[in-house]
Amino acid sequence: MKKEYIIPIFVPHLGCPHQCTFCNQKEISGQTKQVNRNDVKETIEYYLKNFKDDSKYVEVAFYGGSFTAIEENIQNELLEAANEFIKQGRVKSIRISTRPDYISKDILKRLKKYNVKTIELGVQSTNDYILERCQRGHTFKDVKKASKLIKLYGFTLGHQMMIGLPESTLLDEINTAKTLIKLKPKIVRIYPVLVIKNTPLLKEYENKEYIPLTVQQAVERAKDIMKLFNKSKIEVIRIGLQNTEEITDPKQKGSQVVAGPYHPAFRQLVESGIWYDEIVEKIKKFNIKVMQVTIKANPENINNIIGHKKENILKLKDLYDVDVIIKPDETIKKGKFEIEVDKTYEDLLEEQKSKIKK
Ligand code: SF4
Repeated sequence: MKKEYIIPIFVPHLGCPHQCTFCNQKEISGQTKQVNRNDVKETIEYYLKNFKDDSKYVEVAFYGGSFTAIEENIQNELLEAANEFIKQGRVKSIRISTRPDYISKDILKRLKKYNVKTIELGVQSTNDYILERCQRGHTFKDVKKASKLIKLYGFTLGHQMMIGLPESTLLDEINTAKTLIKLKPKIVRIYPVLVIKNTPLLKEYENKEYIPLTVQQAVERAKDIMKLFNKSKIEVIRIGLQNTEEITDPKQKGSQVVAGPYHPAFRQLVESGIWYDEIVEKIKKFNIKVMQVTIKANPENINNIIGHKKENILKLKDLYDVDVIIKPDETIKKGKFEIEVDKTYEDLLEEQKSKIKK
């Protein structure tokens, strides 16, 4: 992935004519005021002033809401303001996120004019029953059509999917991931469903019609899905909503999250969980009772190998009685690791036998 700076501009609920049961855009984007040309200019200037590395790729991202469902003149006003910076050579590109039923040839032609490069579609699920159940207001057919058009017009395609939607099972989510892979997005975001204040989902939760996933369940599902995307070389650019003052631990004052698998290090839990599974698989393949191993890996991967709060190391000791020594090694490619057995139980028995003989 190229090193890049993102300048986020939140466009809350603005223009979205729908009410998905899980969504309260105003709370999620932490902002209720409508954004205008000056806000865009000021935000971009502010970020550009504070970036330390001039050589990085800079992209302006309009997040939240359904960008192409906003009134056309407002879209153009915001895009024009951002495009000015591209013309000046201070920003390289623009990304937007939108709904699949607000993509057409005319819309894409207009976005091209303003140098939009990446379009992320809120897919959430490819199962029409689940889409209907959370009142998305579009079907998978819309996703398919929009994805094809976006690629045809030369944009970078992104997909966003959710785990833990009402009535959605692990199998539904695996199917969603597999179906999206066939549409060949370049990037993907995976969001576990949180129950947010002032949403229809909160009512379902209070009426006990919706039971959110636990953190553990959400991590297990996200792991399976991430493995599929990794295998297909599709980059998962985010797992879990960004932590803000509003999207934070439900116990914190001001948090808009009422329930659900909120965790400040959700991505790390998922990634380190994947490393844990791979390490256990390798240890099992030794087919001997291992007591201690040394794992060598690229320094960038060490934190995930150790796990959040050393979870992986502690679990390997608790469940398999294996001690782990970790050695960072720059020569090992990111994502790979080497494992060596330092000591087996047979070694231990031999040691004890020789002590007894002495
Ligand atoms: S389409 Fe997007 S912005 Fe609109 S209600 Fe649904 S999730 Fe929220």
